[in-house]
Amino acid sequence: MNADAYFSFDATRYFIPDWDDRVDPGFDFVTEESPGKGWEAERYAHELFPEPPYDGLLVSKVVEEKSRQRRARLRALGVHAALRVTPEFPVLGDCGAFGYIDEPSPPYTCAEVLDYYTACGFDLGVSVDHLIPTADHPDRELRYRITLTNAEEFLTEHRRRGLGWIPVGAVQGWDPESYAEAAARTAAMGYRLLALGGLVRASTPEILAILAAVSRTLPAGVGLHLFGLSREALLPHLRAHRVVSVDSASALRQAWLSPDQNYHMPGQAWCAIRVPQSEGRGRKKAGARHDVNFDSGLEGRLLAALRAHDADEGHLDEVADLLTRYTRHCTPDFPPARLKKMLHTLEVRPWKDCPCAICRACGIDVAIFRGNNRNRRRGFHNTWVLYRRFLALRKSAGRGG
Ligand SMILES: [Zn+2]
Repeated sequence: MNADAYFSFDATRYFIPDWDDRVDPGFDFVTEESPGKGWEAERYAHELFPEPPYDGLLVSKVVEEKSRQRRARLRALGVHAALRVTPEFPVLGDCGAFGYIDEPSPPYTCAEVLDYYTACGFDLGVSVDHLIPTADHPDRELRYRITLTNAEEFLTEHRRRGLGWIPVGAVQGWDPESYAEAAARTAAMGYRLLALGGLVRASTPEILAILAAVSRTLPAGVGLHLFGLSREALLPHLRAHRVVSVDSASALRQAWLSPDQNYHMPGQAWCAIRVPQSEGRGRKKAGARHDVNFDSGLEGRLLAALRAHDADEGHLDEVADLLTRYTRHCTPDFPPARLKKMLHTLEVRPWKDCPCAICRACGIDVAIFRGNNRNRRRGFHNTWVLYRRFLALRKSAGRGG
């Protein structure tokens, strides 16, 4: 991909960070059997929808290095084949500064990171940065300088080697002024794309103040990438602040990490229906509790009742009663407010209104909180819903809105 193609895009691109989020396409929701495990058998979200539910992927070096297998695959196949995307699909590389936030300095040299991006065939590569954890961090000036010095060395070496991929200058700071100054200096080095980091924990008004300060100082033709941000309140402001791309996995991860905002629909989030596994890997979570009065068939009857409810067979009261009993058995102190939300999801059946390929294929199982094959599929659905929001913004941008 060349820089002109990247910048001629008229709306903000949505990237998703790769954390090996895959599911078994042959998973049987009734028998719970999973015939395929591992990279070859499993499928990424972009392989389960007719079109990928994002514009690009972000691969962080620290994440990639956590697994020897993954690292070897990336080196042997190149990043596009390792992720099974077409050679034209944009893949952005960064170091993953959150992974070494506690280290005094980044564990990589600029030369080694340039080698890595080049060898793996990345389309865009971010300079070696160092996060500033808080505004009063004792090393904030040092980390600020390291990020700037590395950006300069990275671009100089990128030019000296005559590399074809797009260099991205990382920008760190702690307030609007420090971000704006770093962005101006990094743009002056010759970067056309800057990536702003360290904003994930900032409030939306703080981020907007930083974006306003940064975009005011940017020379014409320079765009921004925002690390880790796709929150709804920011989306309408991105174009005005020259944000050409963002990445975030929060919609995906809320499918299993949020206490009650697991299944997303436009403008609304639903609590997934938790049915912990009492057999196999999940045994400790549910069935290990010693309870002589426990009806051991309850879990199976609940799952069957949930499916019947989805198929408009059976009664809501019965399935709600089974769900309540099973929940109280597994977790006696389960929050009543969350149980109420689960029952509400059960009653409304929001997945029936979703046209995405996952919901059409899985039905109620997409809303059941139980194991990787259901939970990640729900995350893929959430990603698809978020991406539709980006597509809508793009459409309005195309109309000059
Ligand atoms: Zn869906």
